[in-house]
Amino acid sequence: MAAPATKERGVYHTVNQSYDEEWAMLEASRCLGCSRPKCEEACPVGVPIREFIGHIERGDFESAAEVLAAASSLPATYGRVCPQEGHCEEECVLGTRGSAVAIGRLERFVGDWVRERAPSEPDGAGDPNP
Ligand code: SF4
Repeated sequence: MAAPATKERGVYHTVNQSYDEEWAMLEASRCLGCSRPKCEEACPVGVPIREFIGHIERGDFESAAEVLAAASSLPATYGRVCPQEGHCEEECVLGTRGSAVAIGRLERFVGDWVRERAPSEPDGAGDPNP
């Protein structure tokens, strides 16, 4: 699934988009659930990667969100700014056979899934200059 490009001031940028539910479950199904997960050993904040990916594979996004929330306060943000390609994804055993599990993108999916379902604040709530 290729990310679309946007044009801003004459420069094209690739948009780092999240998966939809079907694509997330498909990508999560690639994880082998390694008994000695090198991805988790490489994660600097100790995200239980196999656990949250397992929930995604079963379509239990709420449980995936709970697992991530216990390890990361802003999964949608960390999923975008954390250099997974130099940590967990670099160590994923599937990377040696071709393509590592897209751990960061799955984290972004969960963060976005939660954000889209969060109750919206009433007008002016949280705005220091209403
Ligand atoms: S190393 Fe890759 S395949 Fe193994 S548990 Fe981690 S993400 Fe899954």
